[in-house]
Amino acid sequence: MQYFTGTPDNPIRVAIIGSGPSAFYAAEFLLSASDAVVEVDMFERLPTPFGLVRGGVAPDHPKIKTVTRAFERTAQHERFRFFGNVTFGRDLTHGDIAAHYHAVIYATGAQTDRRLGIPGEDLPNSHAATEFVAWYNGHPDYAHLSFDLSQERVAVIGNGNVAVDVARILARTPDELRQTDIADYALEALAQSNVREILILGRRGPAQAKFTSLELKELGNLAGADVFIDPRELELDPLSAEYLRSGESRTAVRNYEIFQEFARSRPLAKPRRIIMRFLLSPVEFVGTDRVEAIRMVKNEICEREHFMSPCPTEEYETVPVGLVFRSIGYQGVPLPGVPFDDRQGIIPNKRGRVINEHGERMRGEYAVGWIKRGAIGIIGSNKPDAQETVEYLLRDMAFHQHFCPANSSREAIPDLLQRRGIRYVTYEDWQLLDRLETERGETVGRPRIKLTSVAEMLNALETARQAATP
Ligand code: NAP
Repeated sequence: MQYFTGTPDNPIRVAIIGSGPSAFYAAEFLLSASDAVVEVDMFERLPTPFGLVRGGVAPDHPKIKTVTRAFERTAQHERFRFFGNVTFGRDLTHGDIAAHYHAVIYATGAQTDRRLGIPGEDLPNSHAATEFVAWYNGHPDYAHLSFDLSQERVAVIGNGNVAVDVARILARTPDELRQTDIADYALEALAQSNVREILILGRRGPAQAKFTSLELKELGNLAGADVFIDPRELELDPLSAEYLRSGESRTAVRNYEIFQEFARSRPLAKPRRIIMRFLLSPVEFVGTDRVEAIRMVKNEICEREHFMSPCPTEEYETVPVGLVFRSIGYQGVPLPGVPFDDRQGIIPNKRGRVINEHGERMRGEYAVGWIKRGAIGIIGSNKPDAQETVEYLLRDMAFHQHFCPANSSREAIPDLLQRRGIRYVTYEDWQLLDRLETERGETVGRPRIKLTSVAEMLNALETARQAATP
């Protein structure tokens, strides 16, 4: 049997659904394979690429966003194409993919939030942190939202990096925010904010918080907010004390030191306060027309299903708050025609190879990133993750374990999209939008002013096209 490794005339054709970090890392590994010739077409629902790097990474973390420089290099590869503004399952179906490609990689991330499942969760002024993040980052699907920033006390539930991002953005001064690429409308709304106190609530203790230390420490260096921790919050139960003593997690040890620094620090009477509390689980959001308070049960750390679980006591506490952000993790959503594991919120897979409900491998189908492993890890975690999937994909191709496309010509997909009247956006189009956004920013001394509606983006491209036509 002859191995299928692709040739310049008959390359392995791979469709990638999604254009965030895991998608770009997968493309990079496919295009740089030394023993295979692969062509990559990347499909993205929005006209803009980069997924959570554009729509999730906090605007005051521009350094993290420079990862897009590597993605830009991948996009310049002659065997790479970007098709933005194309929705999988609607504009392009699973059947279309199987008819035109040898394989597909799903890289759609985790697009929704986990639920607390408690009474009052859907009251006005209770929001998923994911929505707030997408809103301040100018994501077109969330740009219309509004948040009641007239409230003085806000709670952020969860002890992960998204909770820190949300608290920090709420605490930043208008001057700090103006230096970022935060959406214009969000800058305006946050400049009028009445928020004075931001409570960050963890269901487990300080030893189990999931913050990364750099992000946690940053909270202590804000121009307009002090961080408070009552030293009693840092008293450790035996399990936590032993965990820190063992040094098993350097991050946990470092985080605990930072918490202690916060507890020791003298407040500088800055206009806002961030208060961190632990071992509290919300059991109800109380209110009639909107959230007015959170009722919480006091937990203790015990050894249950997981080591160091939060176990409820008989003690309850009710804290008045006017606005709540639930920051308890992202969750994947199913794709039409693709297996889905509801419990874990991922596409079921074995090391990136998609499997069906009987545990059988689905020929030609692969997953990377958060839709493969769940919403854990930082951007860099997607690199080894994508490498694993691509290695299996190329191995499977070699042994002819792929879709059998009826038409794998390069022109077939753009022709199909045009016939369907889909106004897809190319990578060159995106570069034009990118320039436009940075030019808009330059005029007012900001790094970029984002376009925040799909119509606005498509109109801008149309105007540019007409201007370029003699
Ligand atoms: P995360 O790190 O998984 O944190 C989720 C938090 O929610 C945990 O503290 C968790 O507590 C808590 N939680 C879960 N269910 C809960 C419940 N029912 N009640 C109360 N609390 C609950 O998730 P994330 O903050 O959304 O971040 C997702 C990933 O993106 C993480 O890997 C994160 O590091 C990464 N990220 C990185 C950056 C950065 O590098 N700057 C920025 C943003 C996000 P338990 O620990 O008890 O489960």
